[in-house]
Amino acid sequence: MFSRSLTDLEQRSLKSVEKFPQSLRRFVEHGYRIVPLPIREGQIFRNWKKFLDESQWWSKSEIEEYQLENLSKLLNHACKNVPYYRSLFKREGIKPADIDDFDKLSLIPPLTKNIIKNNLDKLKAQNYSESKFKLTATSGSTGVPTVFYHEKGKSKAIEQAFHWRYRNTIGVKYSDEYIYLTGIVTNLNRFDEKVSWSKYYIPYRILVLSSFHLNDFYLKRYVKLIRSRPNSILFGFPSNLYALAKYLEKNEETLDNIKLTHTGSENSYPYQRSLMESQFNSRVFDHYGNAELCALFHQCEQADLYHIVPEYGVSEIINQHGKVAKNMGDIGKLYATSLTNYIFPFIRYDTEDIIEYSGKSCKCGRSFSTIKSIQGRIQEFLVDRTGIKMSLTGVIGALHGMVFKNMEKFQFFQEERGETILKIVKRDAFTNLDKDSILKTLYSKMGKDINIKIEFVDDIKRTSRGKFIWVEQKLSI
Ligand SMILES: [Zn+2]
Repeated sequence: MFSRSLTDLEQRSLKSVEKFPQSLRRFVEHGYRIVPLPIREGQIFRNWKKFLDESQWWSKSEIEEYQLENLSKLLNHACKNVPYYRSLFKREGIKPADIDDFDKLSLIPPLTKNIIKNNLDKLKAQNYSESKFKLTATSGSTGVPTVFYHEKGKSKAIEQAFHWRYRNTIGVKYSDEYIYLTGIVTNLNRFDEKVSWSKYYIPYRILVLSSFHLNDFYLKRYVKLIRSRPNSILFGFPSNLYALAKYLEKNEETLDNIKLTHTGSENSYPYQRSLMESQFNSRVFDHYGNAELCALFHQCEQADLYHIVPEYGVSEIINQHGKVAKNMGDIGKLYATSLTNYIFPFIRYDTEDIIEYSGKSCKCGRSFSTIKSIQGRIQEFLVDRTGIKMSLTGVIGALHGMVFKNMEKFQFFQEERGETILKIVKRDAFTNLDKDSILKTLYSKMGKDINIKIEFVDDIKRTSRGKFIWVEQKLSI
């Protein structure tokens, strides 16, 4: 899931500022800061942003027309210039012209992470010069990272245009300050091995707070820093911001000067959102994206639904019968086709993320298709004895509601079908009664085809990028 903002920031900050001598850096940084963002982001950004500001009000038929036209363009390009697709289409006996509606997309076999790993060179478009390829990877927080390519100087600019259309929609201005709670700060400075817990990036107006320092000692300092920057946007992984909200609740405090809160990268649960909204006194907006830049969903400013951003790509939610979800409440795996990436095309890419379709039309007036919830990565499911994969959405909410006050953290571990260990970092007040009620709740949610053991641990570590994962899943599912 989405985690690239920080990497973007890292690369751009380092590149643009580090070429100057130390003595001049501060001066240069302040210079960058006053250049308006659309100018700094360049022509590709500005063209896309202008287009997107208009296209968001298109009718359903205009959207479909755009998607089909661009899909056809992409398929023709892939068939002509990308060796992997050329041989795939030949093998399957399909021509790009055969795919003239969304249902026919299913004629193309999905692109899996494994296929990418084994065909990295064959997936590169041959009509691009080598200098245009920028090697990129997913964070690999729940497994081995997937490596692929973006187009240098273009992919990120287009991506930023989509993000800024959304940010503008929810009320963010180009000049607003951001406070990030997304990762470890030391990652951002390759010259400084020392772990630091906060860093302010002058050109980008971003204060980064480390998600590896979420204890009372640092949270107190975080709150002070946040209060000193009124009207900022809080941006981060839900688990990090929830820890901040929890701290405020415990100390009977609230934040009263946050413009809004924006989350991404991890599943966002209703219990997290409601606590954040009450402790931060601001609306929480969530979004879903992936480093492969194939699918983008944004929570609407006027509803709890997520928009499927249609100019970005074609998203198919494949239900348990292998068909594209068309009914409200259908849950399935997301296959995503990027409509903006020609250098390394992702066509029906199996994201391994599980999505709940809504299909409800949105009251904001946009004709975008909608989804109800993001259920998470398939690796974050538990598998029972019979092979059934169980989402943890309901389970995690129930655990928090029950005894979170007596538990610091928890995480599931699975390496065998039908067996799981719930690791708990307990607080002093934790008793056997808590243990019994946890097990009772889990069995009532997950059934009897899974054996649950509880193990007490001293700590549960985040991934190297500061994400929290709910299941350490050792099975390949
Ligand atoms: Zn809407």
